[in-house]
Amino acid sequence: MKIEFFKHNIGQTEIKDVQKVLRSIFLTTGPMAKQFENSLAQYLGAQSVISVSSCTAALFLCLKAYGIGSGDEVITTPMTFIATPNSIIQAGATPIFIDIEQTTGNINADLIEKAISKKTKAIMPVHLYGQMCDMKKIKKIAKKHGLIIIEDAAHALEAQRDGIRVGQLGEAVCFSFYATKNITCGEGGAISIHDQTIAEKLRKMRLHGMSKSAADRYTQTYQHWDMEILGWKYNLDDIRASLLLNQLKNIEKYWQKREKICQMYETAFQGIPGIKLLTITPASKSGRHLFTILVPAPKRDLILWQLQQKGIGVAVNYRVVHLLKYYRKTFGYQKGAFPVAEKIGASTITLPLYPKLSREKVKYIIKSVKEIIAT
Ligand SMILES: *Cc1c(COP(=O)(O)O)cnc(C)c1O
Repeated sequence: MKIEFFKHNIGQTEIKDVQKVLRSIFLTTGPMAKQFENSLAQYLGAQSVISVSSCTAALFLCLKAYGIGSGDEVITTPMTFIATPNSIIQAGATPIFIDIEQTTGNINADLIEKAISKKTKAIMPVHLYGQMCDMKKIKKIAKKHGLIIIEDAAHALEAQRDGIRVGQLGEAVCFSFYATKNITCGEGGAISIHDQTIAEKLRKMRLHGMSKSAADRYTQTYQHWDMEILGWKYNLDDIRASLLLNQLKNIEKYWQKREKICQMYETAFQGIPGIKLLTITPASKSGRHLFTILVPAPKRDLILWQLQQKGIGVAVNYRVVHLLKYYRKTFGYQKGAFPVAEKIGASTITLPLYPKLSREKVKYIIKSVKEIIAT
């Protein structure tokens, strides 16, 4: 048996949509990107969506748009993909890590206030594996201290908690359409944002700070453009945007399928000695992006290898960021700094989870995990 770690959902409709763009004259940011932005705004119930080339770019641009940079601190989690804290460093600011909740792996909101200094400008929570952080608690703290919230929802486009969607309480929320995400165009991202002035600024910042996009300039009679602010080159082209349109239409159908697979896993692994699961927060809907199990840390790498021997694709999400070489060297972090995150980072295994994964394959994965754990 060969079970891929991930398979995307791109099919005939997406291929036709791309062909339409490829046969058109205009390949870069234009009508398709606009259509995708509008559809995503509608799905989220949001005012403004700005498509960009990656979630990393989205996080970076949001920090820049709010004037966060040199000398500033941003509070975030060490249990995430490096893109999150890297975007803070790229903006010129310093990531301040705090520990996470044992139950969910999300940032521990109770530890935020202790980490706030005069330099703190923002909080960057990550909705890990698809489960939303305690945004009500985080919002209260942010309000009290005048901090901006930029949410990393790379895993959590579909998520809700306590009647709130991602991006609803934060100033901005960033999404990823990277190759393994819930909907994908290979590389891509988006920002959803409330403040219309900042939204306009972001539209310019993603394209060199130009007052008019190429579509504005060439699809109508020629118009001169000006450069108003210094921007970057982080726009999403129409080729990629066209891949996302049909996937977005099917997003809830895909979510249902992943939800069913997660429930199969959860039922099967409940109470098995040697396997621990994270808890799903009550009154919430997880984006169900990644399914992880926790195994005894000394045996984790061996179990990973044994699963691969059985043909099962696996991953580790994540080994803690603060103990990676660059972060140790630059910030002097040592083992023990964030014990809960380190414990999860050393014991976590991610199993395959995607709509195309058949029940038979899920059953095979469950059987294999149980066999390996029992030996
Ligand atoms: C994938 C991912 C990102 C980065 O997304 P890109 O689109 O590849 O830049 C950021 N944060 C988290 C939590 C991710 O999983």
